[in-house]
Amino acid sequence: MEAEYDAIILGAGAAGLAAGLYTGRAMMKTLILESMGTGGQLLITDLIENYPGFPEGVHGQALAKMMEIQTTRFGPTIEYAEVEAVEDLEKKVKVVRTYDKRYTTKTLIIATGGAHNKLGAAGEDTFAGKGVSYCAVCDGNFFRGQDVMVIGGGDAAMDEGYYLSGIVNSVTVAHRRDELRATKVLQERAFKSPKFKWLWSHVVEEFVGNEALEGARVKDLKTGRVYTYPTAAAFIYVGFHPNSDFVKGMLDMDALGHIHSDLHMRTKLPGVFACGDVRAESTRQLGSAVGDGITAALAAFHYLSL
Ligand SMILES: Cc1cc2nc3c(=O)[nH]c(=O)nc-3n(C[C@H](O)[C@H](O)[C@H](O)COP(=O)(O)OP(=O)(O)OC[C@H]3O[C@@H](n4cnc5c(N)ncnc54)[C@H](O)[C@@H]3O)c2cc1C
Repeated sequence: MEAEYDAIILGAGAAGLAAGLYTGRAMMKTLILESMGTGGQLLITDLIENYPGFPEGVHGQALAKMMEIQTTRFGPTIEYAEVEAVEDLEKKVKVVRTYDKRYTTKTLIIATGGAHNKLGAAGEDTFAGKGVSYCAVCDGNFFRGQDVMVIGGGDAAMDEGYYLSGIVNSVTVAHRRDELRATKVLQERAFKSPKFKWLWSHVVEEFVGNEALEGARVKDLKTGRVYTYPTAAAFIYVGFHPNSDFVKGMLDMDALGHIHSDLHMRTKLPGVFACGDVRAESTRQLGSAVGDGITAALAAFHYLSL
């Protein structure tokens, strides 16, 4: 059986669009399947200051549009449908199913990304991008020299909190337990830093402010006291969930469902690649998602040339 496509790319975020740009230019017949809107996480990102080539920064939606135009110019088509299942991944011709269609392809590039878990506090959406953030590396610089909070007690909270401590005046960690979950070495590093303050056994119930975030309404779980803790920013680290359910059990994954791929973005199955935020080794940065997508496309091209 002949496959309809040389490459099917799942997800039209930064990684998927970059992959499509390269498969398109390599003359591979390419389909990109996207369940929401072209751009993925870019669509909910305001100003991006750390993507090379834009000294004044670039707005997420504008960049997504530019990437879409550039990619489709070289041939790939984008269809809007949620991928519900993939089959025959170990075979030469792989099958992708959406609600009402079935597609076949020689290579499959999984670029379905993921999303940060929300805290669920009141005002979280209102102040997202105005002080509430899920990425210190992305937004820390907007709060240079100011007092900020980190919410969570795992590795990501400690790692990103430490990153922030080099930029801001102080980092207050609010954690619902009275001990951290993070690995010991990350805990020790934070405990030693004079920049860290600790709100143990505290939960954030609400984010408050006017135009921008000014504070968090916190509850001390031991005493029941609720009060406003002033802060210019709140960085939330309560998990990240990758969009990988449709390949569960077929590919190697970490405990949270991030797909393992090697330096060429190859998964354990020949002709199947994973790139961007959905992969376990991702730095979850735009630049690296783009780089991953390019690497996956070139690896897919080499796979077909064998
Ligand atoms: C608010 C915010 C701010 C950020 N700021 C920065 C920043 O300043 N600098 C920086 O470097 N990075 C930043 N990031 C991170 C950066 O945006 C991501 O690392 C990058 O966009 C990930 O791209 P991706 O293509 O791997 O995944 P995504 O952008 O998540 O794209 C995946 C796509 O796959 C689609 N999809 C998922 N499941 C399916 C399915 N079953 N079928 C079909 N389609 C599917 C989704 O709809 C989505 O469009 C930020 C992220 C957020 C959320």
